[in-house]
Amino acid sequence: TTSVVLFTRDLRLHDHPPLRAALDGSDTVVPVFVRDRAVDAAGFAAPNRLALLADCLRDLDAGLRERGGRLIVRSGDLVEEVCAAAGEADAHDVHMAADVSGHAHRREERLRSALEARGRRLHVHDAVTTVLAPGSVTPAASDHFAVFTPYFRRWGEHSVREPLAAPRRVRVPGGVGSEPVPDRGDPAALSPGLPAGGEREARKRMAAWLRTGVFGYADRHDDLSGDATSRLSPDLHFGALSPVELVHRARRAGGEGAEAFVRQLAWRDFHHQVLAARPHASAADYRTRHDRWRTGAAAEADTAAWKDGRTGYPIVDAAMRQLRHEGWMHNRGRLLVASFLTKTLYVDWRVGARHFLELLVDGDVANNQLNWQWAAGTGTDTRPHRVLNPTTQARRFDPEGTYVRRWVPELAGLEGRAVHEPWRLPKAERSAYAAYPDPIVDLAEGLDRFKRARGRD
Ligand code: FAD
Repeated sequence: TTSVVLFTRDLRLHDHPPLRAALDGSDTVVPVFVRDRAVDAAGFAAPNRLALLADCLRDLDAGLRERGGRLIVRSGDLVEEVCAAAGEADAHDVHMAADVSGHAHRREERLRSALEARGRRLHVHDAVTTVLAPGSVTPAASDHFAVFTPYFRRWGEHSVREPLAAPRRVRVPGGVGSEPVPDRGDPAALSPGLPAGGEREARKRMAAWLRTGVFGYADRHDDLSGDATSRLSPDLHFGALSPVELVHRARRAGGEGAEAFVRQLAWRDFHHQVLAARPHASAADYRTRHDRWRTGAAAEADTAAWKDGRTGYPIVDAAMRQLRHEGWMHNRGRLLVASFLTKTLYVDWRVGARHFLELLVDGDVANNQLNWQWAAGTGTDTRPHRVLNPTTQARRFDPEGTYVRRWVPELAGLEGRAVHEPWRLPKAERSAYAAYPDPIVDLAEGLDRFKRARGRD
């Protein structure tokens, strides 16, 4: 007998329940990845992520070949392609991981019916892309938790399934058509500081992180210049790493840092369970605040300055430039640039979320859209009126100014925290830094505008 394993956001061989189930139930398996036309059409085909996707697929193919198999790559309508591959291999069963977006749910249902109409069966496996299945941790009176703290308390009470070893051998039948594994695309279109992707690289990063970095995480995760977070988000996004395995290994490493790290993985699960329950939150406000976001030429000019890292607030600009250069941004940076766009400039969170998705190598619907909503105060944040002051944030999370000098070379000559407020320099000195713009907005005016707007709540 033959089964199909459909890989989606779980591009790995370690701890892969659908692959294990397929191997246990049949003699040969068809490992398939379909470049889903609908995902591309929805604007998710950003060059940075396509490059990492290509790394992951190449690595998965290499891992399968080492085990006697290979990866089948197709593109087009996912349902048609999976049905065709199952037909070519005469496979009765198709295994895949559960996912949370509205698109993923609809696609799963279409696939189930199309397979059933052909006498085949779809098996959907939970806890592959998340630690716990969305919907498995719920309060008494609702289908999901809307506040993180009580969610996390309950999340911690659940046992996490044991991770599975990678298979030793994978036999793939002949006669199933495949396209070549894609390459990274035009290097000129990519952020120059993009990491390498794929399961092997990811496992090296995970091992190094758990050996050393994680121990300082509780104290240092917010330190912008220290850059002391795991940077495993792209690996988790593509599923080159299993979140289940990460939780087990972090808990085994132990200590305050590991606990704080596991808490962040629970945040990831949290946003996934919100999106699973409220798929429209990918585009519409989770909670309406009756915002009438700024539009028009002035708002567009402000947005353009924000995207280019030329707002005149060095900490905001440093973070925006890191995003462009690396396809990644530190979480503290994401929080403060999102607050700046949506609250200080009062521009719609969707504008910011879209820009992030064009560049972020870890950009995904659940984490990006719901973190944006959290930061904008339209989401699950319990303090929707909080506004982060960029200068206060800069002094706190980049006390020596190292992060700003790294990303804003025009200001590299300014020592210490003076780099955070170039507008305070005496006129004669300020002219030496004329390449760097003046602030595009007065913070007090921005705050007033936001308070007046949100006052309508
Ligand atoms: P670490 O601090 O090492 O955390 C470990 C892992 O926990 C991360 O890799 C990530 O998977 C998860 N995690 C940490 N913080 C969060 C969080 N707030 N929400 C959900 N998961 C979290 N993360 C994404 O993976 N994709 C996105 O598209 C994304 N967009 C964001 C947009 C905004 C406006 C904000 C404020 C945050 C966003 N985040 C997103 C969350 C967070 O910033 C990144 O996950 C984190 O910076 C990745 O770096 P790291 O792997 O070093 O994180």
